[in-house]
Amino acid sequence: MVLKRNWAGNFQYSTTNWYEPESVKELQQLVARVKKLRVIGTRHSFNSIADSNENMISLQKLGKVLSIDPEKETVTVEAGIKYGDLCQVLQQHGYALHNLASLPHISVAGACATATHGSGNRNQNLASAVRAMEVITADGSIVTFSKEKSQDELNGAVVGLGGIGVVTKLTLDIHPSHQMRQDVYENLPLEQLKHDFDAIFSSAYSVSLFTDWRDEFFNQVWLKSKLTDDQSFSLGEDFYGSSAAKEELHPVPGVGAENCTAQLGVAGDWLDRMPHFRMDFTPSKGKELQSEYILDRKYAYKALCAISEIREHIAQHLLISEVRTIAEDELWMSPSYKQDSVAFHFTWQDNWAEVQKVLPLIEDKLEPFQAKPHWGKLFTTSPARIQSLYEKMPAFRELLLKYDPDGKFRNEFLNTFIFNEEM
Ligand SMILES: Cc1cc2nc3c(=O)[nH]c(=O)nc-3n(C[C@H](O)[C@H](O)[C@H](O)COP(=O)(O)OP(=O)(O)OC[C@H]3O[C@@H](n4cnc5c(N)ncnc54)[C@H](O)[C@@H]3O)c2cc1C
Repeated sequence: MVLKRNWAGNFQYSTTNWYEPESVKELQQLVARVKKLRVIGTRHSFNSIADSNENMISLQKLGKVLSIDPEKETVTVEAGIKYGDLCQVLQQHGYALHNLASLPHISVAGACATATHGSGNRNQNLASAVRAMEVITADGSIVTFSKEKSQDELNGAVVGLGGIGVVTKLTLDIHPSHQMRQDVYENLPLEQLKHDFDAIFSSAYSVSLFTDWRDEFFNQVWLKSKLTDDQSFSLGEDFYGSSAAKEELHPVPGVGAENCTAQLGVAGDWLDRMPHFRMDFTPSKGKELQSEYILDRKYAYKALCAISEIREHIAQHLLISEVRTIAEDELWMSPSYKQDSVAFHFTWQDNWAEVQKVLPLIEDKLEPFQAKPHWGKLFTTSPARIQSLYEKMPAFRELLLKYDPDGKFRNEFLNTFIFNEEM
């Protein structure tokens, strides 16, 4: 049997034992029976976080919306659901999620487990929408984590890196559906961020800056604005020295915009504007690698200037880089724990031999700013360094040991980066 790979194809999972249970009961029996396992989402992580040497379980057959509670403004879903499918159902019922990642193709459980985020000064990451979570723990029993039961344990379990157990159900906050528009500007000078970083990033509901680091310019500014009654406002031709794009653009220079959500200020439903990429098309470039570092927003300009010092090293292996903001949260393993953050993302050419030489240069430059790597992307930061960056790391370890004392859900990634142990 052929070993499976992740979405990008850069990582090969270590076992051919894959299971796709069709019911929670079947899942419980499976969990109780096997000695070691990991759950997989839609395989969009770039590193070994989801891997198992023994058993991999996919919840792709458990992907339904279970209920919408209009009073509490929550939706409860089976954990295998993809955001794209959930968004369609929410929209039909007049609801929206507070934010989305750049792509709707990922599973809700997988995204929450790694603190996946979109952008927006006041938008927390996607996991912060979780109100309750049902998990099959190591002995096959079902445990509910909820705000009502223990806000603290919920905060610890949501960004769980797949280590607490198999998440089977999630209850998420929802909001009334709304329209949005997306406007793109070209060529924003880096220097403009020196005094205007906050103004630029608070000028729309969600803001992204893209650069190929070939110059001290951001090639594109993407503004996603929430529309209320007045849908016809004009943003103008000039935005902090950048100029309005005349046609729709893909963030990666030279790639056509057909895979991207509509731009040019055209109003549309929130689910068709919030992600950069359309559900029915390949997101991003496809053949690529990704890294991302998240740090305190107050260092944003200084840290960007530090990165700019090594931009020649970066540019030659890069497809595109994106800068986004994330609001602080209370989730223990979230890189934005108690810290309004900025995230520096890098989409690399598919050349790990070269990329792994550039990452330490970036990590050195970002070291003074305590940057934390994205849990689901590629990094070379040492386990000791990662552990020192998370105030709640000891509490998270205890939580894992409480619900999984024998390490059924532990893999090499968790042993290395959380427990600092060799397999
Ligand atoms: C093209 C592309 C664009 C991206 N854009 C963004 C972005 O805009 N913002 C961002 O922050 N990240 C982004 N990412 C990263 C991505 O969001 C994360 O890697 C995310 O974890 C992927 O979700 P997944 O469903 O593929 O999970 P997987 O990669 O399959 O798994 C991730 C983790 O979740 C765990 N897990 C999955 N399901 C369960 C479950 N039911 N119970 C317990 N644990 C579970 C796995 O064990 C693993 O530890 C992007 C990735 C790609 C490929």
